[in-house]
Amino acid sequence: MSHPDGMAAALVILASLGFLAYSLYRRYLPLAAARPYPVPGTLTDRFKSLFTFVFLQKRMFRDKYAAFYHILIFYGFVVFGLKSGCLLLEGFGIDLTIQHFGPYLLSKDIFIILVLAGIFLSIFRRVFFRPERLDNSADAYIILAFIGGLMITDGLTDGAVILLQNPAWAAWAPVSGAFATLMSPASAAGAYAVCWWIHLALLLGFMNYLPYSKHFHVYTSFFNIFFRPLDPPGRIQKLDLENLGEQSRIGISAGQDFNWKQVMDFYTCTECGRCRENCPTRLTQKPLSPMEYGLECRDYIYDGNSNLTRREADMAGREIKPLIGERVTEDTIWACTTCRYCEYACPLFISYVDKIVGMRQHLVLEQSSFPPEAQNAFRGMEVNGNPWNMPRDTRLDWCRDMNVPLASEHKAEYLFWVGCAGSYDDHGKKMARMTVDLLRKSGIDFAILGPEENCTGDSARRMGNEYLFQMLAQQNVEILNGHGVKKIITFCPHCLNTLSNEYGQFGGSYEVFHVAEILARQISFGRLNFKTDLNLELTYHDSCYLGRYNGILEAPRFILNHLPGVTLKEMKLSGERGMCCGAGGGRMWLEEKIGKRINHLRLEQALDTKAGGVALSCPFCYIMLENATKEKGSEAFKVYDVLELAHKAAFEG
Ligand code: SF4
Ligand code: SF4
Repeated sequence: MSHPDGMAAALVILASLGFLAYSLYRRYLPLAAARPYPVPGTLTDRFKSLFTFVFLQKRMFRDKYAAFYHILIFYGFVVFGLKSGCLLLEGFGIDLTIQHFGPYLLSKDIFIILVLAGIFLSIFRRVFFRPERLDNSADAYIILAFIGGLMITDGLTDGAVILLQNPAWAAWAPVSGAFATLMSPASAAGAYAVCWWIHLALLLGFMNYLPYSKHFHVYTSFFNIFFRPLDPPGRIQKLDLENLGEQSRIGISAGQDFNWKQVMDFYTCTECGRCRENCPTRLTQKPLSPMEYGLECRDYIYDGNSNLTRREADMAGREIKPLIGERVTEDTIWACTTCRYCEYACPLFISYVDKIVGMRQHLVLEQSSFPPEAQNAFRGMEVNGNPWNMPRDTRLDWCRDMNVPLASEHKAEYLFWVGCAGSYDDHGKKMARMTVDLLRKSGIDFAILGPEENCTGDSARRMGNEYLFQMLAQQNVEILNGHGVKKIITFCPHCLNTLSNEYGQFGGSYEVFHVAEILARQISFGRLNFKTDLNLELTYHDSCYLGRYNGILEAPRFILNHLPGVTLKEMKLSGERGMCCGAGGGRMWLEEKIGKRINHLRLEQALDTKAGGVALSCPFCYIMLENATKEKGSEAFKVYDVLELAHKAAFEG
């Protein structure tokens, strides 16, 4: 059937598409002015990721209710995309016959019902049991109204055609046929014209509204997921400090300092609130909530603050407005524990740690502005090779009586990377000694670096001191490579993450294991056995850098489940959803002056399980939770490293 008012429709469509092009151009300008983004990884990996996370919507299924209605609407978009394209062409008198193809019409008609059901479920949830993470914004209802209107007017338009012409394809369009029963033959022609125009207006209005709404992700999410970093999660990109080139400044302090993928992240946020739901800083009333941080940055960019590159702004004599201070406070930037809960939770792979560390890099390296407590840790790492700032020559004191072989004297299969906690912290030193006992008992050949070992620099990098991190990384890689090290064991998740995922940037490529992985393997081979019944009911706290960063969730639980007399009760936030202890991202060395203490909240979550104590696999987590039990008068609730439990079961009794 011909479309009504040919010339008028063509003009309306052209004008609307013109405005859409203008809106998209405005959004493009900050992307063009942003820094480059290296796109690593193969095309095959990218298409796999696209298929899994866009077409299968895998991450959405963490919330099955939302996944259900989102999938109905998403696939409705896919199916209606063709029909909408045909409608726009109809405006120019072009009638693509594909839109009358029976099976397509049938699927389109079925999706009218499915999409309307999805809209109903979405509204029902928002009105009657809205999750705490979700704001009840008008934007969501506007978009749902657009989509619902499109479905209904499509059915009415096709229904009117069925009534007027009884076309051959009518048998393939039962839903439109049902809409036809709402009209009389006399009113069908008028209804067709009215519905056709309303449908066109809704479609064009929807397309033009998206760039100004939180649903801009309809355009950008495909690209955001396609171009997502495929590196190990949370890896900080190496700054080329020798050759800053056009960057001219270090880190992020304005919109132009983000790379284009980071800007696209801001565009893509749907404000679903998943990232903030269990962000430890938000849960403890600190100024950082990841979603709000992202929206501040996005609005700053939308305000036109980053449409020009720094060079263009210099040439035009334009001042670039600062982002830090103006829109994002320093307290916000320093609050982050880099736990990556937000990044795990986001269905659209929007990252936060890279942006926050980028801002810290600017504060530390350009402004020398950082919490005063950080200075002692920086100085300790630089002068003594450890953030505790203990004398370098006492690094080996923990094992002087144990006859542990040095890598300089014994070429072993594994290097045991002791780490600064294992070398200087009292409890950490005990864990290092127990590691030696357990590795020996289970027949592992290992050596240590001893006085040659330095801090890995994890805290320095995450506190923004990239100069210091690179200095430490280069020294360590030189020493490790000098000894021909290939396999490393460590009990510190922060060391594990840095050695495994970041030293490759400096020529250090190693297979790195957490000691729990090695012990779990030896248990399964029957090379490590336990004899003492521990009679303990425990919960397990996942270190962010072990669990979420490196996917090591099972090995510590495997050990616990093999210890005689130990039963496990999981916390609500456990595994990949585990909540941070508050020490990551260099927060271990900073005071926590705002809001509730994160370690107190985590202890409360552990206490809620009614277990007798908490086991964990990280020296930082141990210090944080042990301190929390003392500060909250809960000393009866014991904190254990899995290592000490394994040691007790293997050696005592
Ligand atoms: S990394 Fe952790 S602390 Fe930082 S914003 Fe994300 S959830 Fe919050
Ligand atoms: S960043 Fe991701 S998880 Fe957070 S609100 Fe935006 S879309 Fe949702």
